[in-house]
Amino acid sequence: MICDICPRNCGADRSVSAGYCRSGETIKVARAAPHYWEEPCISGEKGSGTVFFSGCNLGCVFCQNGDISHDCFGKEVSDTQLMKIFDALIEKGVHNLNLVTPSHYAVRLAGILEQYDSPVPVVYNTSAYEKAETLKRLEGLVDIYLPDIKYYDSDVSLKYSGAPDYFKYALSAVKEMMRQVGNIKLDENGLAVKGVLIRHLVLPGNILQTRKVFDAVADNFGTDTYVSLMRQYVPCCKARNMPPIDRPLSGKEYMIAKKYVLSLGIENCYFQQKNSASDDFIPDFNLEGVDNL
Ligand code: SF4
Repeated sequence: MICDICPRNCGADRSVSAGYCRSGETIKVARAAPHYWEEPCISGEKGSGTVFFSGCNLGCVFCQNGDISHDCFGKEVSDTQLMKIFDALIEKGVHNLNLVTPSHYAVRLAGILEQYDSPVPVVYNTSAYEKAETLKRLEGLVDIYLPDIKYYDSDVSLKYSGAPDYFKYALSAVKEMMRQVGNIKLDENGLAVKGVLIRHLVLPGNILQTRKVFDAVADNFGTDTYVSLMRQYVPCCKARNMPPIDRPLSGKEYMIAKKYVLSLGIENCYFQQKNSASDDFIPDFNLEGVDNL
C-alpha cells in the first residue's frame, strides 16, 4: 500500500521497500526501558517507559539517536510482541508508555493501541513533523503528546532536516494535539496524566529560531501552555562538520533563550541544567527490552 501518512508523502510501497523514513511495514524497535531524564512530570521517580522506534521521517543532521533513526538499527517486532514489550515496561512500574519517534508507524500504532488497554498514560513523543489527519487516528488512544517544535524558518528546516515545510506541518499538528487532549494536566503527585507539552531544543547559533517558535506558541496556544526549553544539544552525526551547530550550546545562549521565554509571560516552563548536554544522557541502543521476547 502506498504510504502518505506523513508530510514527506514519499509514496513508498512499504510492503516492498522502505520509505524516506527507512521503514517498511513491520515495526522495528531499538530499545524499551525505563528512562529517567524526561521532564519531571513525565519521568517521575519510577521512570518513563520509553520504546525507541527505528527509522525517522524527519532525519535531522544533528540527531543524537542517529544509530537508530538514520542507520535504522533495531529488531522487527510483531504487533503482539510490541504489546508484550508494553506489558514488561508496565510490570517495571513505569509511569507511562513513551513512544519515541513513532510518526512513521502512526497508523500501525493506532491499530495496536485500539487493542491494548494501557493502565498508564500513552505518550506520543514526536518531532512534530506530522500530518494532522494522521494524528486524528490516534484520538482517544494517546493521552500525552510531546511535540518538539524544532524550527520556524523554512531555510533552517531545509538545511538541518531537508523539510522546508516543517513549521507549517508542525503548527497544524500541535493544533490537532491540543484539540484532542488540551494543555497538560497533572495528578496529585505532579505527574502528567493528559495533555500537550511542547518541547524545543535550543540549537547553537540559532536563537532567532527559538524566539520565533515561542512567539508562535504564545500566539497560537497561550502563555499557560506547558513548554520545555531543552539545553541538551551535543553535536552528532553530520552536524559535527556544520557550523554553527558543530559545537555545544553556550551557557549564554541558553540564558538568552530562557529570558526570552519568560519575557513572553509563559508560566509553565521546564528548564534544563547545564550538565544535561552530555553524551552520557544518550541511551545505549542495545535492544534492551526487545531481544528477549
Ligand atoms: S511515513 Fe515514511 S514511507 Fe510514509 S510517507 Fe512518511 S517517509 Fe514516506
